[in-house]
Amino acid sequence: MAKSNRGISKRTFLSAAAGGAVGLAATGAAAATPKAKPWDLIVVGGGTAGLPAAIFAGQRGARVLVIEAAAQVGGTLFLSSGQMSAAGTKLQKSKGITDTPQSHFDDVMRISKNTANPDIVRLAVFNAADTFDWLTDNGFTVGKDHPVTGTTHEPYSAARYAWGPQGGISILEVFEKLLKPLTDSAKVKLLTSTEAVELLKDASGAVTGVVTKDDAGMTAQHTARNVLLTAGGYASNSPMFAELEGAKDYSDVSYPYSQGAGIKLGVSVGGYVRGGEHHLPLFGGVMRDTGIPSPMIVTVRPWPPDNPPWGIYVNVDGKRFMKEDVASHDAHEQALRAQPEERCWVVFDSEILDKAPPFVGRWTKQEVMEAVGNYEAFFRADTIEGLATAAGVDAAGLKATVESYNQGQKTGKDQFGRAHMPVPILKAPFYAVRLQSWLLASFAGLAVDKDLRVIRQDGTPVPNLYAAGEVIGAGQTMGRSYCGGMLVTPAITFGRLLGQKMLKFKDA
Ligand SMILES: Cc1cc2nc3c(=O)[nH]c(=O)nc-3n(C[C@H](O)[C@H](O)[C@H](O)COP(=O)(O)OP(=O)(O)OC[C@H]3O[C@@H](n4cnc5c(N)ncnc54)[C@H](O)[C@@H]3O)c2cc1C
Repeated sequence: MAKSNRGISKRTFLSAAAGGAVGLAATGAAAATPKAKPWDLIVVGGGTAGLPAAIFAGQRGARVLVIEAAAQVGGTLFLSSGQMSAAGTKLQKSKGITDTPQSHFDDVMRISKNTANPDIVRLAVFNAADTFDWLTDNGFTVGKDHPVTGTTHEPYSAARYAWGPQGGISILEVFEKLLKPLTDSAKVKLLTSTEAVELLKDASGAVTGVVTKDDAGMTAQHTARNVLLTAGGYASNSPMFAELEGAKDYSDVSYPYSQGAGIKLGVSVGGYVRGGEHHLPLFGGVMRDTGIPSPMIVTVRPWPPDNPPWGIYVNVDGKRFMKEDVASHDAHEQALRAQPEERCWVVFDSEILDKAPPFVGRWTKQEVMEAVGNYEAFFRADTIEGLATAAGVDAAGLKATVESYNQGQKTGKDQFGRAHMPVPILKAPFYAVRLQSWLLASFAGLAVDKDLRVIRQDGTPVPNLYAAGEVIGAGQTMGRSYCGGMLVTPAITFGRLLGQKMLKFKDA
């Protein structure tokens, strides 16, 4: 999950998407009236989960309306690395890899320390191979060395992790190919540049349709037998993020339309939100500024064993808080979560800058030096105290920490048990780079049951209303952790399952 939209705003994304090569145009204007024949299915949000739902429902003969706020369908697939995890795939078999959904399930529960929702994880992983095979059967390809056990997240126990050459776009291309005959034959209608703003319900509380508003401000009502909320998460809605996760959303790397609209719609008809406690930041983001959110300019993620860290990580008190060379992404993320403002600084000296392999992205020594003065997050000083003052870190604390680290480096006995300590932090000038939490996805979401029906606090379903994708909360499939591919794969899988068999269409 390493791609960034580089600060693209909702407005600039719209114009970029309008000129892009990928994407399907809408087939008509919003014209439905309350008296029109109800749709078998209205999909709110034509992204990772919504498009497969529309494809499979359309292929079954259902009449499907996809309501999409952006100018093009595709959603987060435009930005996502599209890394998927699936056990028992044809790809694995072709490479002689033995793997099972049960092993995938066990891995997710182990990595998430049993914080993921077992019912939802089971539904995802026991159907993931069919999803992956469906994509590859339809022309999707992955890297020659795939599948792998993992890269930027905790590794799996088997090689089951793979992605296409263009990340999420490679998946979107398959969706587009399969959608085309359905939109051509008017089985599936795409209503783009149109937001779902309200859900209709009858006196019994059953959902009966959707009210939309298009970019020109025109509203319309669309009735349906089933409504599926696939409008994504809220990682681009900072106030909602703070409210639901009790943390700040510092980075600007998620899809601009991830505004939490699906959650609000579901709550408006009786659904409720769960999972904010699973909030977990990613480690090593360097932001352009301290705005919320801010574009991310680079990451500092010198991961062992390939590229172990040479510097130390300190918090605002100037204190170390972890064994920097621990070979676990999760350990870094959990440690960062516990720091004030989910912020820390990597501190190093001139010798480290000279000798260590690149650790600020792939930047050269020269580029790191030039970043001081160009970016707010980079600091340099001739003394440790001066560095601390410049960086906004407690000076006495940092001085004591560096002395203690240097002593441990000399004796080989580090207070956190760190093994990789090639040089002390002694040679001026000294450097610090402020590292801030960053996020690609949001952890809270609409509560659903194991049939993906939106449920009320008492556990009863809101009739005719379903949800899939990030709208149900990343915490359901990953708990308080990052499990490789456990957002994209479940989103596609749940959309597929709903469209293929979980939704009942009388006439289809
Ligand atoms: C940079 C990046 C990299 C990532 N990499 C990975 C990865 O490698 N592996 C992984 O598992 N996960 C990854 N993720 C997360 C994953 O891509 C998402 O969780 C997933 O794609 C979300 O799918 P979705 O269908 O829920 O939402 P989306 O794909 O975002 O679709 C939601 C759609 O709803 C539309 N919408 C929103 N509001 C409304 C409204 N009111 N009315 C109508 N339409 C609306 C949106 O415009 C959008 O098209 C990444 C995320 C990012 C940002």
